[in-house]
Amino acid sequence: MSAAHRTPWWLHWRSAWRRWSLWTLLVVLVVSMLVTLVWLAGRYEASQVQSQLERDTADAVSDIRNALTRNLQSLQALNAGDPGAPVWEVNATELLRQQREMARVEWRDLSMQLRAYVQTPYRQVHWDPASRQDPHSDVALACANARRISGASYSGSYYKPQGSGAGSEMMELCLPLTANGRATGFLVVTYALQDMLVDLVGHGLTRSQEASFTETDGTRLAVLGSARRGVRLFTAQHLLDLPGLTLVLRMDNWHSAPSLFPNVLTALVTAMSVALVTVMVVLVRDNRRRLRAEHDLGDALAFRKAMEDSLVTGLRARDLQGRITYVNPAFCEMVGFSAQELLGLSEGAPYWPPELADEYRQRQATRFAGHMPPREGFESVFMRKDGTRFPVLIIEAPLINALGQHTGWMSAFLDISEQRRVEELSRASQERLQATARLATVGEMASLLSHELNQPLAAISSFATGSLNLIDAPGSESPTTRLQDVRMAMQHIARQAERAGRVIKSVHDFVRRRDQVREAVPPQELLDAILPLVNLQARKHGVRVEIRVEADVPPVLCDRTMLEQVLLNLARNAIQAMDDPALLPRTLDIHVGLDTGLGPGSWIAFAVADCGSGIGEDVAQRLFTPFFTTRVEGMGLGLSLCRTVVEQHGGVLGYAARLPRGTVFTFKLPLNPTPSP
Ligand code: ADP
Repeated sequence: MSAAHRTPWWLHWRSAWRRWSLWTLLVVLVVSMLVTLVWLAGRYEASQVQSQLERDTADAVSDIRNALTRNLQSLQALNAGDPGAPVWEVNATELLRQQREMARVEWRDLSMQLRAYVQTPYRQVHWDPASRQDPHSDVALACANARRISGASYSGSYYKPQGSGAGSEMMELCLPLTANGRATGFLVVTYALQDMLVDLVGHGLTRSQEASFTETDGTRLAVLGSARRGVRLFTAQHLLDLPGLTLVLRMDNWHSAPSLFPNVLTALVTAMSVALVTVMVVLVRDNRRRLRAEHDLGDALAFRKAMEDSLVTGLRARDLQGRITYVNPAFCEMVGFSAQELLGLSEGAPYWPPELADEYRQRQATRFAGHMPPREGFESVFMRKDGTRFPVLIIEAPLINALGQHTGWMSAFLDISEQRRVEELSRASQERLQATARLATVGEMASLLSHELNQPLAAISSFATGSLNLIDAPGSESPTTRLQDVRMAMQHIARQAERAGRVIKSVHDFVRRRDQVREAVPPQELLDAILPLVNLQARKHGVRVEIRVEADVPPVLCDRTMLEQVLLNLARNAIQAMDDPALLPRTLDIHVGLDTGLGPGSWIAFAVADCGSGIGEDVAQRLFTPFFTTRVEGMGLGLSLCRTVVEQHGGVLGYAARLPRGTVFTFKLPLNPTPSP
């Protein structure tokens, strides 16, 4: 491949870059989609965890509230029926055993004096009676409030040290006691916040959750929870509104890897990866297939282009409107116009000779009217850009597209000027050869001619001498008798002269060059024309000539001179084959008749038969080869010319051995010949 046809490096680079950038874009898109999906899944799961936590917190708050309400009822039941202090203490102890969140229950009278109290057995707390009697203590405040609202009231929380550095946050509940609509005292209950969390919330907590009571400002009062695991913290807060106190229940959820999340993620990523890889494989395969197809197409195009460029046949395509849609380089070179000058032209192409343009236009119109051109093509004349005319052979065919629709016409052109020139040369040399052969025949016959002319001339001479003698030395005859004798001699002289003239004329007729015209000639006339010459030779060789022409043979359409030459050559060869004086009989038979045994149509068969030496195997092989001869004075052109002439007339020349001796040369001409070019 030459450098001009090689694709420049930067084009390769550009297409490779474009391909790679597309692939990169695809990968980036898929990856970002994956990331988005994972992020969305994560967010969804986080929101799930958060709302679950919110629900748990709300449930816990409502559990606490229910438990406190239930506790209120149990407390009221303690003082029902006005029990005495010992009974009350038994019942209160039982209550404390069941409700571990209560640290202490006190029964106070209306003046807040302690009537009885019990403490929880589960917790060792040191109670300072003096501080609990303080009118500003939390207890006093709660009871004041309870009295005011005539219902249970809680105090704010406070820290109660328990010695050895430990302690816990407590709150007081003051429940006014009434009997028959009259206030009788108070029940004061101390709740440990930590135990409230353990008993009221703890059972619903999961292992990763942490529950705590805080104040509204976020200060942590009591915490219940496990060790912190995981890295993600979810928090939910809910208010616990109690009369006289507002607490916040806060729940923290430490989340490391949500149980659902990895499953979804793994499944998602796996599925997406499988899909991505599948798509990639399919794309790569498709891409490779496309590249291969592209490559094949490029090859096919390059091959087509190379073929087009190297073709010596001109190609031209026209659409149904007659516009030229395509010309190949050979056509452009042939007519001398460039493709740009020709493409798109419809009427009157510039390579039409002006004098023939009308005829061509008409031909084009017939073509577009749907008439098929002859399959073997037709000849036409085109004009080059420089004005010179040249003959072309045009082969046209309808142009059918892939859908089977007729879209135009495709024509192939062959410049046949060279062919014409060669044909002309060959015709001229053929003619010259024929003339030479004829002259050779004439030369050969010159000696026979002199011999033949000798006879009439000798006769003329002797008749003339006799006549002179009669005139010069008159004998005894009467003048009348002498005159008659002289007259008779003159008549003989005239006849002999006429005979000599005929001999000369026959040679003249034969040698004279005439135009090649085909005419209908009765076979008898052909034979008559050559007979004097044949007889000349036959007499010399002592050969008898027998001619038979069937009555029903019609005239034959031929070039008279050429066919006479053929007959003469065959007859001459036959006579020469019988020049052995020992052979007997020596007869030349010429027979003309009809032959219907050679396929369709009828033929006229000319047979020239001799009783000569026959044709041996070695001679037979080269019989029709020009310049092959076995005779010393022969030229070897006779038979090859005979065959050429017969074939030009659409006939065939052959030969066969004759029994018991000799050869028959036969040539057959068609009765109704098709005109030859
Ligand atoms: P020429 O007559 O000049 O030799 P031809 O082409 O006519 O050339 O003949 C070629 C040769 O074919 C002759 O030399 C002869 O040997 C052989 N030949 C042709 N006709 C006959 C025939 N009728 N019988 C035997 N041999 C023949």
